[in-house]
Amino acid sequence: MKMMKKIFSLTVLTFVLAMIPLTAFAKDSDYGDLGWYYVTTSYKITSPYGDRGGVFHKGIDIGVDKEPAYSISKGKVKYAGYSETAGNWVVIESEDKDPNGKKLTARYLHLNSYSVSTGDTVKRGDKIGVTGNTGNSTGPHLHFDVNNANKMNGSDLNKNNTINPVLFWPNAKWSSVSSHFEIDHHEGDLILEEAIFDFLIEYVGIDAFEEWKNATDNPVQSEFLNHFDLSENDMHHIYNEFISEK
Ligand SMILES: [Zn+2]
Repeated sequence: MKMMKKIFSLTVLTFVLAMIPLTAFAKDSDYGDLGWYYVTTSYKITSPYGDRGGVFHKGIDIGVDKEPAYSISKGKVKYAGYSETAGNWVVIESEDKDPNGKKLTARYLHLNSYSVSTGDTVKRGDKIGVTGNTGNSTGPHLHFDVNNANKMNGSDLNKNNTINPVLFWPNAKWSSVSSHFEIDHHEGDLILEEAIFDFLIEYVGIDAFEEWKNATDNPVQSEFLNHFDLSENDMHHIYNEFISEK
């Protein structure tokens, strides 16, 4: 009897062990299991994810205007700011990982406004902004994409590191408003000068930035200038523009 038990438990163990490698591969259904909060109020897809007409669309376009945009999960605001192509955009680094243990990062583009700041932590379902038509956008829509490479710029995204966003909501009732999809080719890149306005200065705080800018023989500053290939004049120019925007 004892021997039988032992054999039985060994069989179970072998079976369990044999299952483990299978779970290491991403299955489409795994994304639905994360239970992500839906990003806005509409399920109308005006442009789906994937290859169409030789252009790869990195996410989905949802036909929606001035409706709330919600955080998909608990996570951190990797970036909230403005760029000419993406308009007002927010990037959320989710605490959730894909089935291979890779961090998931979600981007929301063309927002009318955002109500979070870079570095904020967010909870599942938190309102992060309002959808809109800012940046290089042909009409009100939310471009939403997800990648597993911790990327924030559209130019770093491709079919190998993005995931079709519809997989996260397997029970959603999607609809398409048009059979002739328009693809937005401008999917948002962080431009260095904008990054300095929105990210660096906001991040360190204006007082700290001013002190830093004015400090002579500041190794942090010279390192920064070297790193971004900026002159002292650039730094003053950036600072003055930042002040005039406030
Ligand atoms: Zn799009």
